Amino acid sequence: MSGSIGEELAALRQDGLYRSLRLVAGSQGSRVVVDGREVLLLCSNNYLGLADHPQLKARAVAAVERYGTSSGASRLVSGTMELHAELEARIARFKGTEAALLFNSGYAANSGIIPALAGKGDLIFSDRLNHASIVDGSLLSRATLVRYPHNDLAALRRLLAKHPPTGRRLIVTDGVFSMDGDLAPLAELVALKREFGALLMVDDAHGSGVLGATGRGSAELLGVMDGVDIHMGTLGKAFGSYGAYAAASREIVAYLVNRARSFIFSTSLPPAVLAASLAAFDVVDSPEGARLRRQLAANSERFRGALAAAGFDTMGSTTQIVPLRVGEAAPAMEFTRLLLAEGFFVQGIRPPTVPAGTCRLRCTLMATHSPDDLDRAAAAIVRIGRQLGVI
Ligand code: PMP
Repeated sequence: MSGSIGEELAALRQDGLYRSLRLVAGSQGSRVVVDGREVLLLCSNNYLGLADHPQLKARAVAAVERYGTSSGASRLVSGTMELHAELEARIARFKGTEAALLFNSGYAANSGIIPALAGKGDLIFSDRLNHASIVDGSLLSRATLVRYPHNDLAALRRLLAKHPPTGRRLIVTDGVFSMDGDLAPLAELVALKREFGALLMVDDAHGSGVLGATGRGSAELLGVMDGVDIHMGTLGKAFGSYGAYAAASREIVAYLVNRARSFIFSTSLPPAVLAASLAAFDVVDSPEGARLRRQLAANSERFRGALAAAGFDTMGSTTQIVPLRVGEAAPAMEFTRLLLAEGFFVQGIRPPTVPAGTCRLRCTLMATHSPDDLDRAAAAIVRIGRQLGVI
């Protein structure tokens, strides 16, 4: 930190890294209204379109009528409501684990789970592109943080072998990398964690509900559901609700209840949110859920294919997160501005969210985008990409 707050803000502006909030009207459907104009939304994580699904809304309203609007306190203080218990049982069943524990958000989950599982004298092995909440949880833990190059198994093996096996070892990775849309090599990570006696935690914020034959996530897609010790997932993305969880053994969940500070010291999720999440599991597990997943996969292929064919670098994406590499911050934000003017809302992503020099447009697809929407968006992106010299 240097200089005054005003100076620091001025420096952010000068470097093209200043952030401000944009007002959008309407739900997070495929279209929102920005500055009085309807635009196609291509930057929401509402992948299956459940954020305004009638079933989720009806269950949330009914829960408010029956249970009120707040959970009142931390669960260790004023108790677990029926809906907390019901949702945790549902999550455990979904992930095939003995138990599950709710957290108030993905950020709260990672910053609570990681310091509970690892502390002073322990080792955390973390992919260099893991989400910021994993980095923050790791720093909070006071364990030794060893960051390995993205998906580099040989480097991880060397680092595991190099560090003496004192204390606990935790390997932690995103299942789907949130800014790149590629997958972690989970089968190989399971083999490594077994070889080195480590725990494996997978943050599947972007895979859960979306990937695998039944939407269980990246571990289902890669055939290693049983090899993951802690399945972390979020409910504010494909599940169209809010909150997060750890699904794990009974022992680990009991441990988190006693040790995860973001669980212990925070008011728990309110009834409306819990009920919406329960309804989301019903949809995800239904034929409608299967259809939405297929539609999302088809949309992602169509959109990514068109942009890759036009010469964009899609940065290894194989999922519904489709980054388009731009490079520097200024053209990335200019790209966003020009697209918005044409009716397409796509977010430019800059440091510290991504490494310097790898600024990108991060497009996120939804099952509710129509093929025509996506073709029009791709055409505009190609045209502006040429104009800006990105392709
Ligand atoms: N993990 C990953 C991989 C994420 O992308 C995000 C949020 N975008 C989070 C955790 C945090 O989840 P939440 O938004 O529920 O706090």
